[in-house]
Amino acid sequence: MIFNTPAAQAVINFLLPPQCALCREITKEPYTLCSDCWPKLRFITSPKCSVCCVPLDDVDHDMPCTDCLKHPPVFSKAYAPLIYNDSVKKLVLRYKNYDGLHLGPMFFGWTQRCIPNDTNIIVPVPLHWWRFFTRQYNQATELGKLIAKHTNLAINPNLLKRVKSTASQGHKTKLLRYENLKDAFIVMDTKNILQKVNVLLIDDVLTSGATANACAQALLNAGAARVDVLTIARAVKDNNGTP
Ligand SMILES: [Zn+2]
Ligand SMILES: [Zn+2]
Repeated sequence: MIFNTPAAQAVINFLLPPQCALCREITKEPYTLCSDCWPKLRFITSPKCSVCCVPLDDVDHDMPCTDCLKHPPVFSKAYAPLIYNDSVKKLVLRYKNYDGLHLGPMFFGWTQRCIPNDTNIIVPVPLHWWRFFTRQYNQATELGKLIAKHTNLAINPNLLKRVKSTASQGHKTKLLRYENLKDAFIVMDTKNILQKVNVLLIDDVLTSGATANACAQALLNAGAARVDVLTIARAVKDNNGTP
């Protein structure tokens, strides 16, 4: 396409200079943050929980955290490039609620190193139909589509359905979140696509893990061999902007 040439990009950048995704300061490259905002991101590095991706202190290698040892989730492993803090919250809200779809390539750039090699199919966490109706798009599906496009992995946003609206989970305890999400998702797999495949479940943020767990349970019940989870960010209890 003519718009993909360097000359065309230079013209576009001149007319519509790329902006920082957080403060809208002009930046040199598109889909990034300015030098003031970049340090506000905290990327997750080892040592971290080898199951739920939460950063760990006082150990020198990845291992399951106390929570995952006590109550192992049904998904195998969660991956996230970033810790969920106030800055990431702003970015994710923009992606979710406003006209923030153009932020997708930036999120893809950060998440691409977290994609397990043996993934067979991408399944986004679905919105309840009413939320989808009012929002017009599902941010998890949009991110999933970008990942599928760049990795040639299959994606199916219609396998998993949310049959129970579970708005405002924020104030609930972890146990109540799990209880509230029980049976919230069903699988519609008439062609048996899920039999013995490794699923990569996509969502924006992993908080208590209750949503991912409920989705994983439905996918495993339908025959999936394994479910991993990929989100943009992982909420951590002692960070700002987190529950
Ligand atoms: Zn900025
Ligand atoms: Zn853990």
